[in-house]
Amino acid sequence: MKEKIHPKYEDAEIRCACGNVIKTRSTKPRIIVGICNVCHPFYTGQQKFVDTAGRVDKFQQRMVKTQAAQALAATRKKKKH
Ligand SMILES: [Zn+2]
Repeated sequence: MKEKIHPKYEDAEIRCACGNVIKTRSTKPRIIVGICNVCHPFYTGQQKFVDTAGRVDKFQQRMVKTQAAQALAATRKKKKH
C-alpha cells in the first residue's frame, strides 16, 4: 500500500431510523440511514407505506355495499316470481 493516500479504514456503525445498529468497517465512523434490512417492507413482509391514502379500505367498503345491494336485488327478484 502506498503511504498517505489511503483514507482511514476503521470500525464503523450504521444506525437506522428504526433503532437498528449494524457493525461494519468504513472510512466514516458513523453512517445514518433511513431504512435498513430490519424495517424495510421487503424483508418484514409487511406493507406499511403502500396504502397511505386508504384506497384499499375504500375499495373494500364499496365492494361490501355493492354485494349487499346485489343480494337485496336478488331477493327482490325471487319474491316477484
Ligand atoms: Zn431500520
